[in-house]
Amino acid sequence: MDKVIGIDLGTTNSCVAIYEGGTAQVIPNTEGSRTTPSMVAFTPDGQRLVGSIAKRQAVANPQSTVFAAKRMIGRKLKSPEVQRMQLTAPYKIAAADNGDAGVVVHGRRYSPQEIGAFVLRQLRDAAQEYLEQNVADAVITVPAYFDDAQRQATRDAGRLAGLNVLRVINEPTAAALAYGIGAEASGTIAVYDLGGGTFDISIMDFSQGVFQVKATHGDTFLGGEDVDARLVDLLMDDFGRETGLDLHNDPVALQRMRDAAERAKMELSSIEETEISLPFLTADTSGPKHLRRVLTRNELEGLVQDLIESTIEHCRDAVSAAGIGVEQITDVLLVGGMTKMPAVQRAVANFFGRQPNRSVNPDEAVAVGAAIQGAILSGDVGEVVLLDVVPLSLGIETSGGMMTKLIQRNATVPCSLTEVFTTSDDYQPLVNIHVLQGERPLAVDNTSLARFELVGIPPALRGVPKIEVVFNIDANGILSVSARDLGTKREQQVRVRATSGLTEANIERILAEAEQFQDADRVNVELQELRRRIQGLIYTTERSLAESANYLTETELGQIRMDLEVARRAADAADVQLIQNALRELEKSAFRITEVMYRDFT
Ligand code: AMP
Repeated sequence: MDKVIGIDLGTTNSCVAIYEGGTAQVIPNTEGSRTTPSMVAFTPDGQRLVGSIAKRQAVANPQSTVFAAKRMIGRKLKSPEVQRMQLTAPYKIAAADNGDAGVVVHGRRYSPQEIGAFVLRQLRDAAQEYLEQNVADAVITVPAYFDDAQRQATRDAGRLAGLNVLRVINEPTAAALAYGIGAEASGTIAVYDLGGGTFDISIMDFSQGVFQVKATHGDTFLGGEDVDARLVDLLMDDFGRETGLDLHNDPVALQRMRDAAERAKMELSSIEETEISLPFLTADTSGPKHLRRVLTRNELEGLVQDLIESTIEHCRDAVSAAGIGVEQITDVLLVGGMTKMPAVQRAVANFFGRQPNRSVNPDEAVAVGAAIQGAILSGDVGEVVLLDVVPLSLGIETSGGMMTKLIQRNATVPCSLTEVFTTSDDYQPLVNIHVLQGERPLAVDNTSLARFELVGIPPALRGVPKIEVVFNIDANGILSVSARDLGTKREQQVRVRATSGLTEANIERILAEAEQFQDADRVNVELQELRRRIQGLIYTTERSLAESANYLTETELGQIRMDLEVARRAADAADVQLIQNALRELEKSAFRITEVMYRDFT
């Protein structure tokens, strides 16, 4: 099999690696850097720039330089995540016809997949140059909380870049592979990933080379850029105090400050004190103005203590969601450039009560792990089974607007589940399969992933047809749903492309809502249950009434018809008490019919 590259397609930076000669190595890009900014710029003269070269010209060309496209991948424009991006992104974000978020530059629309593809192509080219051979196969990583649409979209980005994406694996799982975790018998690890724009904490179990994500938490808007922003605020204030000038609306000065802030932050990871110097930052009538300031590590740490503390809060939540105590964690792995900051390492060590493992460069761990997974697939490395879990339950809408779960939250993938359903109406010619994801009992409260119809069901009374529904999640976490009429063998299936993205924040919100609305949901479930019972009773009463009407007196008939009418109305009402009363009365009528039917035999 050909060489398989491993790619970490990051929000801020991306990295490519290959397994060669018994180890995984990072492939430098054409400029010699080991990571490549995930940025794509379009110049007025029609050139497309990718990576560091795009980053360098961002100051002068902010509206046509796209960064952090990963935040939009597989998401709708209306999703809170994209709405939030829209507030700050200097480039134009707009919806495609299907509502998916994308960007518009020089009047041309680009999907986040296309932007991702430009970055991926750059990494593929670097790999081809380095290996002096064509590269087609790749393993790409995604955050553990990425839903089906986001995984599909990432695969599509790979395809657009001319790559054959063999696997999409979770970033923390890749990191664990990079750190050589899994060779030991078993254990529980925490992967703390603080990058440029996002923070993730994952708790994973491993046993005999099998990894399983127990819990993931984080914040999709917390990372190194927030630290840089705090520093920029400090510089702005200082400069304003000294010169009386406000540079907030000067994009070039702002970008120079951002660059200087990031550089100073990085330097302060290895030295205690640094000088920020920005000559000719601006000018007024009195002449040019320069910025010069000494910054200490202590000052920086004081500025961002609360940000670091908030990552630790997420760690606390993740550990408790995993149902373990911190002392059960056997290793803590650091991923993401920001984990080089000593204050971050200290906070992590404090919380977990152990020194984090720093044996792999945190910028490169994910790509290295992806390359190892590539080598496993190509047979260069012995098999390590990778198991990830479904972040939210999956199921279908069933009668009464309920969600019936087929795959429970936290089920390990790959997995498959089959259940047989039936029709809810007589002579129902088709069934509507509505695929849902979420934790609430009512379908409307969950995320709709897809709908499809299975047609051509032969005429039959309700409850007779047998429709087999199969949910299958492959090793990439991608869901296929099929429905088969066991009578006619007719079958329909979909590979689910979610209609909306679920961010980690979404997932947390959904879980919190499920808890919050527990009582209200219980009433709704009771209501739906009563409705189902009363509709069933109306149906059977009508049928037996048709068969035994001749044996009933006019008074009995009148009473039963009235009870039926009251029951029909009650079935449409959202009133538990009303339905219960109607049900009781109708049950009496139903018993009366049964009595009459058997009267002659007693
Ligand atoms: P990543 O998204 O993993 O590439 O991480 C990028 C973030 O890490 C950016 O915010 C960088 O400024 C930050 N970073 C990289 N190197 C260092 C360092 N030595 N010290 C502190 N932050 C760093």
